[in-house]
Amino acid sequence: MRFNKFFLSTTVILIVSFSFSFTASALSKPNPGSKISYPPVDVEFKVVKVSKHVYFVQGKAGAATENKGFISNAGFIVTSEGVVIFDALGTPSLAVRLYEEIRKVTQLPIKYVIVSHYHADHIYGLQVFKELGAKIIAPQGARVYLASDAADTLLATRREELKPWISKTTHIVVPDQYIKTNHQFSLGGLDFKITPLGNAHSEGDLTLLVAPDNVLFTGDLIFEGRIPFVGQANIINWLKALDDMRDVNVSAVLPGHGPLATDPNALIDLTYNYLLLLKDNMQKAVDDWTPFAKAYEAIDWGDYMFLPAFDEANRRNAYNVFLFMEQNSP
Ligand SMILES: [Zn+2]
Repeated sequence: MRFNKFFLSTTVILIVSFSFSFTASALSKPNPGSKISYPPVDVEFKVVKVSKHVYFVQGKAGAATENKGFISNAGFIVTSEGVVIFDALGTPSLAVRLYEEIRKVTQLPIKYVIVSHYHADHIYGLQVFKELGAKIIAPQGARVYLASDAADTLLATRREELKPWISKTTHIVVPDQYIKTNHQFSLGGLDFKITPLGNAHSEGDLTLLVAPDNVLFTGDLIFEGRIPFVGQANIINWLKALDDMRDVNVSAVLPGHGPLATDPNALIDLTYNYLLLLKDNMQKAVDDWTPFAKAYEAIDWGDYMFLPAFDEANRRNAYNVFLFMEQNSP
């Protein structure tokens, strides 16, 4: 009798705990007051602890529509007063995954999301954290993106390409604060130093240094393991920003795409050399009045051809740089 009772109560506990975990993942709704629930996304999602306070998750290599939108990196910093997130991933469902990982580490509130730049793969998760009361901080150039037709057009396209994770309920969140000049704030005894870089990879980029851990988030100034995305970049400023980043003394560098490194120089070269190849060749084409298609065919792409996203991104990247050099040649 005693045994049966024990067996029964154990079974009840098992059923209750099973149905609890099932309900939690099926709803994917971090904010109980929210009217929106997000479809769960089954991707390998491995958070690594980088330093005493900083955690990092690395997206998969590839183009924006691959891997269920999980192609960009994000991180979070746990202080004694709350959490700061860096970048919000490419869908609300991925942001919920990130939130679940944060909750494994701390129950403290999400205070801020610092956004490296306003591109789809880093901002579609913002609404999840905004609903939870986080303040959204972005570079000044995000205003340009928000005012552009491209923001709405791309969201409409992604609703088709990344169904069901991008849907009618997905919307672009406007920042609470724009960063124009170097900005520093403290939370829970940690200092956060934000450096805006103006128009480089995007219309506005910023980096974040977390002191005292001495960890640098670079956003998409650095791509690793795939062809960089050029878009409306100012390639001259982008190259200069990378040059300025060489030899900085940090304990870890966390890029916008690809694995982290302890030495920034180890990470910079792929992006830098690729951009330089584009810039030099397109500058020459413009100077010599060579048509784009002819100039493009003549370039030796070497090992870049074998990197993820080459087919999707390379020709468009080159064309964007061609247009940029044309508009900016003396
Ligand atoms: Zn990106």
